Amino acid sequence: MARCPRCGEKFDRDEAEYQFSSKYFGLNYDHLSEPLCFECARNAMEAEEPGVYMETCEQCGSSFDYFQAKSSLAYDDPRYMDADLQFVWDKTGSILCAQCANEHLSEMYYSGDDGF
Ligand SMILES: [Zn+2]
Ligand SMILES: [Zn+2]
Repeated sequence: MARCPRCGEKFDRDEAEYQFSSKYFGLNYDHLSEPLCFECARNAMEAEEPGVYMETCEQCGSSFDYFQAKSSLAYDDPRYMDADLQFVWDKTGSILCAQCANEHLSEMYYSGDDGF
């Protein structure tokens, strides 16, 4: 059994990992900053805590904060309101940082849509 560094409770890591991946589809429990029990992980994710969930960009190789990337992508360009970080990940099949995701969004929005 693992012990959660936040609440101090013992928990089953496999169980926490399973619950995490069922709730946060496409995200990886191993990318949490610490091995948290599911309750603490969920609280941290819902609070969008800086640094709690890190990803590595498959294009430029930089490691980035998931929530920071998500919000910077959303606020950078209001034209992409319906397109969030995971939308780009789904579309490209890669984990991308905000900057690389932004480039892909520009390509998606401006290529092949010149009929107007
Ligand atoms: Zn906990
Ligand atoms: Zn990148």
